Amino acid sequence: MLLSKSFIPILKNNPSEAKIKSHQLMLRVGMIKQASAGIYSWLPLGFKVMKKIEKIVREEQDKIGAQEILMPTIQSSEIWKESGRYDDYGEEMLRIKDRQNREMLYGPTNEEQVTEIFRSSLKSYKSLPQLLYHIQWKFRDEIRPRFGIMRGREFYMKDAYSFDITDEDAFFSYNKFFLSYLRTFKRLSLTAIPMAADTGPIGGNLSHEFIILADTGESKIFTDKRIFDLTNDDTELEKSSLEQMRKRYEKFYSVTDEKFNKVEFEKMVSEENRLITKGIEVGHIFYFGDKYSKAMDTAVDLPGGKKDFVKMGSYGIGVSRLVGAIIEAKYDDENEIMKWPLSVAPYDIALIPMINKNDNSALEKANKINSELIRNNIEAIIDDTDENYSSKIKKMNLIGAPYQIIIGKKSDGDLLEFKEPGGETQNLSLEKIIEIITKQKASN
Ligand code: ATP
Ligand code: MG
Repeated sequence: MLLSKSFIPILKNNPSEAKIKSHQLMLRVGMIKQASAGIYSWLPLGFKVMKKIEKIVREEQDKIGAQEILMPTIQSSEIWKESGRYDDYGEEMLRIKDRQNREMLYGPTNEEQVTEIFRSSLKSYKSLPQLLYHIQWKFRDEIRPRFGIMRGREFYMKDAYSFDITDEDAFFSYNKFFLSYLRTFKRLSLTAIPMAADTGPIGGNLSHEFIILADTGESKIFTDKRIFDLTNDDTELEKSSLEQMRKRYEKFYSVTDEKFNKVEFEKMVSEENRLITKGIEVGHIFYFGDKYSKAMDTAVDLPGGKKDFVKMGSYGIGVSRLVGAIIEAKYDDENEIMKWPLSVAPYDIALIPMINKNDNSALEKANKINSELIRNNIEAIIDDTDENYSSKIKKMNLIGAPYQIIIGKKSDGDLLEFKEPGGETQNLSLEKIIEIITKQKASN
């Protein structure tokens, strides 16, 4: 992609309305454009990143055997009246009337809709477990939309739902999602810690929030530092291994403020391991048993002729919020250097030819390099403008492709000036560069 032809409207300075660095960067490099309060259009750069995050989220859902569906954004109020949440949900729900004067709503979440789908088709325990998910826009009329897409009113979420017959089976399903979340966040190169959480308006008894540390986060957390050293993403997808995995996390005190208990915290965590800080919630999993299935009369036949309500859980990941969360974790705002993890980077590499008015050879060389990169499935952005070196580097550091090649007078031989944004320059052959990137891609 040529920078001159791309739709990447970069601003010279930080927009004054943005209070946190992810919002600053997203506006600065034109990843998003506000449409109205808490509602955004996604421009090419931002949309590329979000789609790559979505793909990883999807792959990790598929790997645990969850099946993708797509439910609508607009729902009928009927099912919400059945569950009792039509009134409970309050002002966060955007209510709409159609031309027949029917009460509709823009879905803030989908427990009712998916339960309705389940009950209309599946009647026997033999079809269980069922793990269904979709990735769809949600609307919540947040009282204080802020920080750009971090707390939007319209946002993109992956929500999954599990259906089982016993608590034990349901915990197995819960643990599968627990594992898939560890794997998902690792591939996004985030350290997201599962924390025991309150179940809130969704209700129920078992719940974890996945939180990444950030001073600008809105969740207050109390945790044992040692939990950060755990890695369990290679756990087998098997009942007892998954149970042990969750226990390894639960051994360490780690909660959000609704669940905080000072006495317990001080008893369980030695002084040097206590960490009280803030974080961003990127995912949330719940087990709530038959809360919805009972209210919505969703039962299956058991062996021996009995019937029972199915046991359900729900599992959300904030796909659009993750774009901001990754920036919060990776953006060096002081030096204005963004380094996207290669797994979600809008471009794999930036080609920066130094172009003189009467000498196009650097651009020609960049185009040749690009053809070779394309053959190797590496996506480049080429700065084909005739700006000076420092302004080109500045722009590319903001766009944040994880690698850069500078093509100047010195690049006459076979070796290229290769670096990470803000890093040391290395002189490497194109072959070697392709090898480095390809290897890195394969490891994700
Ligand atoms: P929060 O406490 O941040 O309001 P929540 O508990 O209401 O989140 P859930 O209902 O569990 O959120 O939704 C699942 C995920 O969707 C959250 O973990 C978060 O990543 C994301 N999410 C929730 N609300 C928003 C929002 N207003 N804007 C962007 N993402 C959101
Ligand atoms: Mg909320």
